[in-house]
Amino acid sequence: MLDQPARKPPDEQERMAELKDFSILDTAPDDDYERLVQLASVLCETPMAALTFIDHDRQWFKARVGLPPVQIPRRQALCAHTILDSGRLLEVEDVAGIPWFDASAYGHDGRAVRFYAAAPLKTRDGSAIGALCVMDYAPRTLTPAQRESLTKLGSAVASQLKLRRQLRVATQTDRLTGLPNWLHFESQFDTSKPSRGIVAFVRLRTVNQINSAHGFRVADNLIQQTADRLRAHADGGTFIGRIKRGLFIMFFPDMGPKDFSLEVAPRLTTELHTPYGVNDLMLVCPVNLGFATYPDDGKSLDEVVNAADAALQMAIERDESVAFFDKSVDNQLSVHYRLEPQLRKALRLDQFVNYYQPKINLATGEVSGVEALVRWIHPERGVIPPLDFVPALESTGLIREVGSHVIKRAMVDWAAWRAAGLKAPRIAVNVAAGQLRSAGFVEELRRAIESVGAQSSALGIEVTESVLISNIDTAIEALTQVRELGVPVAIDDFGTGYSSLAYIVTLPIDELKIDRAFIKKITADPAYRGIVHTCISLAHNLSLKVVAEGVETLAQQAALQELGCDEAQGYYYSPPIPADQMAALLLNRRSQ
Ligand code: C2E
Ligand code: MG
Ligand code: MG
Repeated sequence: MLDQPARKPPDEQERMAELKDFSILDTAPDDDYERLVQLASVLCETPMAALTFIDHDRQWFKARVGLPPVQIPRRQALCAHTILDSGRLLEVEDVAGIPWFDASAYGHDGRAVRFYAAAPLKTRDGSAIGALCVMDYAPRTLTPAQRESLTKLGSAVASQLKLRRQLRVATQTDRLTGLPNWLHFESQFDTSKPSRGIVAFVRLRTVNQINSAHGFRVADNLIQQTADRLRAHADGGTFIGRIKRGLFIMFFPDMGPKDFSLEVAPRLTTELHTPYGVNDLMLVCPVNLGFATYPDDGKSLDEVVNAADAALQMAIERDESVAFFDKSVDNQLSVHYRLEPQLRKALRLDQFVNYYQPKINLATGEVSGVEALVRWIHPERGVIPPLDFVPALESTGLIREVGSHVIKRAMVDWAAWRAAGLKAPRIAVNVAAGQLRSAGFVEELRRAIESVGAQSSALGIEVTESVLISNIDTAIEALTQVRELGVPVAIDDFGTGYSSLAYIVTLPIDELKIDRAFIKKITADPAYRGIVHTCISLAHNLSLKVVAEGVETLAQQAALQELGCDEAQGYYYSPPIPADQMAALLLNRRSQ
């Protein structure tokens, strides 16, 4: 039997699963095991003893006396024979006759091992995960008492291993879901030493509400089902933990941010948005997901977890299902929060005012509409442009209130222009993600229009591609309702985001606003002129109106006219101006 290297036992797969379950491979030296090994060496009167585990292709030494190696190939391991039968001690009086065995790999100073005896570590029926062995430099046998001692010590090691496993399961596992808790998650990360990957937090948004409405058992059941759904995603070495009530953490090794955001995140969120059957209830529990990239966003687990948490907070604040970590955003966020009290005060003191910029019909030269662009009139700092405070309004959620204010104000100004005998043009307002997604948004538009006795054609909205991308289904639903109301929808800053032209086809929109960046180069760079040309043709094929943003020169206007662009907006015609100046502009244009 010993004339060739040990074959793998028939239950090798189960044996390896059991070994993995003990999480002992490659762990640090440990006093308890060292002592048991020393005891084996003393009781059996051998200069060498070891506690070893048989991994796929190697024998790994957890504790040893009188032996240099940390690991050797499995095919050279005598213990690989010992583990084949976990019920029996293996004793070899003289190993010198074993042809494949390299005795010099063991002893100090190249002295050859001659004697070997070992007790398999019996933690289950079938083959064993490892062995407690003793060795000597001379051929010999163990006395019956020594055999008994070695067997007993082997069982002691096995019991110790099992006890520790139980302890670990008890302290590292979340009782409700059976998932690892944070501690265990952390140690899994440390043991697997990944070189890169994605850390994601998944938060059940309404678990507290479900808890209060239906009781904690229902909420518990829902959390268990969520855990099962996440487990189904835990292939390819992904690991999952539960941090607290409705909060899970996941690590996807070897994954990059692009694959994660394009494939995994949408799949995960769709999966988790499927209703949960609990007792007789069908419950929907939306999620927020925040993720960050290791090691790009954090060199250690702690750092990358903080980054993923910052992303999660952003998803929560912006009411989005998925957000990724962005360093610049992380720095900005704290600035945004410091600004919050001032922004609230500005809202209370009515310091947000609408400026208006005309859109010109390129065929007739008439003002075909205006865009409302908010300004903060600060008592000390003067007129503050939106890019300096709209992002902070978005992070703090204040955008909804300020956005409502802008819409109401637009309709009030519209009515004032009309009352002054002017042909009041349609006003387009910019709408942020948080607004579009709030439940009463369409109703709010309707009320603003009706409150001044206007028609719905008096108002339009502009949304950027990023607003749509972050939550496409909700966005499409909201836009459809807005259009049903009779309020047209424009895609703002077109070309700067992610959307392809083909993708735009699927959206419920009326107008495409080509971003300033393209218009800027239209006269200097034929490639840009080509892009703009394609945009215009495609939009026209879809019966969309095209507006060019940021027109600053006559040459740009001429190029756009040549390409058949419908409308233009920019400093060439007028910068954004206050409502009374806009009234004067409308009056002048009429009298021209
Ligand atoms: P936007 O909607 O794309 O607005 C166009 C921006 O281009 C405006 O900047 C406008 O002043 C500027 N602009 C217009 N013509 C020219 C030009 O010929 N040359 C150049 N260089 N710039 C031109 P503004 O007013 O600073 O607004 C910046 C952005 O802030 C807006 O971009 C919009 O996304 C956002 N914003 C403004 N008002 C609101 C609001 O009430 N709500 C929300 N959610 N966002 C707003
Ligand atoms: Mg706009
Ligand atoms: Mg724009």
